[in-house]
This record gives sequence, C-alpha cells and structure tokens, in this order.
Amino acid sequence: MNTEDTLAQIAKEVSVCTNCALHESRKKSVPGEGPANAEIMFIGEGPGFHENEQGRPFVGAAGKFLDQLLAQAGVTRADVWIGNVVKCRPPENRDPLPDELSACDKYLERQIEAINPSIIVTLGRFSMGKFMSGAKISQVHGQMRKVGDRYVIAMFHPAAALHQAALKPAILADFAKLPELLKEARAGLGKSAPVKKTEELKEADPKQLSLF
Ligand code: URA
Ligand code: SF4
Repeated sequence: MNTEDTLAQIAKEVSVCTNCALHESRKKSVPGEGPANAEIMFIGEGPGFHENEQGRPFVGAAGKFLDQLLAQAGVTRADVWIGNVVKCRPPENRDPLPDELSACDKYLERQIEAINPSIIVTLGRFSMGKFMSGAKISQVHGQMRKVGDRYVIAMFHPAAALHQAALKPAILADFAKLPELLKEARAGLGKSAPVKKTEELKEADPKQLSLF
C-alpha cells in the first residue's frame, strides 16, 4: 500500500473507532490531514467544537492563529501534515484522559510511520509528553531534539498563546526558526529537500505556471 492509501485506511478506521469513550459524543472524527510526503508533522491535542463539526484539524480560532504561525515559518497548510493525539473531541474541550491517549496512540504511531517526517512539532503538553516525558514546555520550547529516526521540537499550543499574551512572542519566534531547523534536520538525517509540485510543473512546462 502506498502512503496515501495507508493514511486513508487509518482515517477510515478512526471514523468508526470505538476504542475509547470519546467516540460516544463524536460528530466527526478528525484523523488529521496533509501531504503524504510532508517533511513536518504538527501534532496538537484534540478536536474542539469546530473540528468536531467539520472533521478537519485546527479550523477554529486556534487554527486561524496556526495559519499565521505557519506563514511566519514560510509554509502553508499544503506543505505540512496537521493532526492530534486524540482523533475525537473530548466533551467540553476537557483534557484527554490517560486511557484515551493510550487508546488513540496507535493511529498516530501508524501515521508517523507512514509519513516518516524529518520533524515533528508538538503543540502543547499532551503531544510533547508523548516524545519528551517529564519535559517542561517553558524550558524546552523551540529546541530541536533527536528522538529515534527524526527530530522533535516542542512548541506552545496556539490556543494557549492566544489566551496568554505573554507566550505570543515565544511561539512566533519558535515558528520563525523552523526553516533553519528543517535544514539542520535534513542534514542530520542525510535527506534532501523534496521537489515541490510547482517546481515540477515549472520544469515540465514553464507556461503551465500561468494557469495558477
Ligand atoms: N486544538 C487542537 O489541539 N487541535 C485541533 O485540531 C484544534 C484545536
Ligand atoms: Fe478511537 Fe481515538 Fe476516537 Fe478514542 S479518540 S474513539 S481511540 S479514534
């Protein structure tokens, strides 16, 4: 199975999953989305109200802010994969419980294995906890660490930075460092930058570009 098919298969399983209590109040599951060859995966906490309505990650207020942060890093949603540690909305946006996190983890593990990103950016403490147990976000945010076959960077959750003005400069600065850290990660892993769709087109036929 190719990566696209694997991701679609995982999304299909998630949509009918009953492995934890979060399925009971689920309207739409939010498996995550982005290109199968994404070099960067952003992993948040779990769907909120709007995500549960639409089945897509980060489409509410935190998502609007995330779009600005991505722009700060010189990327758009089309370049990166975005998902969460739990795929169904916790009631009233409460924190996910330990048994819910562990029930849902196998889906995220399979997504990471399929995409094989160079960098995982954790947004908030629940996804940070998966990769750096015991770390304090105030101390480690913005630092890149090798974890297994890839690099992990912990960042504040966009919703936290929206509600606590003091965190905003830090999250903006951390995102601004991403292009440089991506170069470092590629070098560390011996990977080269993938060819972007627009560049493929340009090489095939420069006139094609005027269609966009
Ligand atoms: N917050 C998250 O952690 N994830 C989403 O998808 C939306 C808001
Ligand atoms: Fe299944 Fe994850 Fe949804 Fe729980 S949150 S029901 S484990 S998909």
